[in-house]
Amino acid sequence: MTTLGLDFPVFEPGWVWLVGAGPGDPGLLTLHAVNAMQQADIVVYDALVDDRILNLLRSDAKRVYAGKRGGRPSSKQTDISLQLVDYAKQGLRVLRLKGGDPFVFGRGGEEGLTLVQHNVPFRVVPGITAGIAGAAYAGIPTTHRDCNSSVTFVTGHGSSGEMPDNINWAALAKGAPVLVMYMAMKHLRRISSELMANGRSGDEPLAVINQATTPNQGILISTLANAADDVEKAGVEPPAVCILGKVVDLRDRLNWLSPQDDVKAVRHVPFEQVLDLITVPSDPTASNS
Ligand code: SAH
Repeated sequence: MTTLGLDFPVFEPGWVWLVGAGPGDPGLLTLHAVNAMQQADIVVYDALVDDRILNLLRSDAKRVYAGKRGGRPSSKQTDISLQLVDYAKQGLRVLRLKGGDPFVFGRGGEEGLTLVQHNVPFRVVPGITAGIAGAAYAGIPTTHRDCNSSVTFVTGHGSSGEMPDNINWAALAKGAPVLVMYMAMKHLRRISSELMANGRSGDEPLAVINQATTPNQGILISTLANAADDVEKAGVEPPAVCILGKVVDLRDRLNWLSPQDDVKAVRHVPFEQVLDLITVPSDPTASNS
């Protein structure tokens, strides 16, 4: 078989790779992520990593769950970081698989710092972050020339679970035409009030996209003033991202997925078939020399 001339890094024993798994849809994984999954001896994964993605792991790879699901308490961050160090020191190829991008509200930085402290070599594989992918799957561009020349990511949740107290709401309300909000469901009412109190119009469109890019994706379009009530009425559950700003209105024309936002309604081909398409068949006329 002829090769495409694409080389991928070898996962060396004793290394940790911090890899973004994207928001859910396995098609949004990077090739680096797939390469990592094919080589890793052990994977430490989070709650937001889709089961269909875990199926791409080497079948004999050891799986360690490090998230919170079904009411089980969350593993402590320091424990996870030290676990990674421990596995690497045992000479394993350690894959730390995280939802979205590891360095966007994903504590990848904290884990990286612990690895540095313990002299463990590591690589970072970025992933598609939920805010951008969720907006795109809802037909909302996060930037659009007529609307905004900047976009701001903000978290509605501090490490304690409370609203972060270091957010300058006045500056955000004034200077951030488009806000992409992660972990904002719990405190949405307070977040909206802060923004409105600081001059943001209650009529501004706000989109809430939950389980973005998965077969259970749901989209709720509301306004800054009504979002908290609407979310409550509709019973929207996390994980969800909220997009605030004029760009949300573009969805009226750019909702490409389907009128029902139904990921399941799209026809699919098996992944194996996609691989066949991108594999270059060997050239029978080429000489062997
Ligand atoms: N590192 C991740 C973010 C982790 S913080 C990333 O880059 O996407 C967890 C928050 O991410 C959730 O509370 C939610 O706000 C958002 N999130 C992650 N996956 C999501 C999904 N499939 N749909 C909607 N929001 C998601």
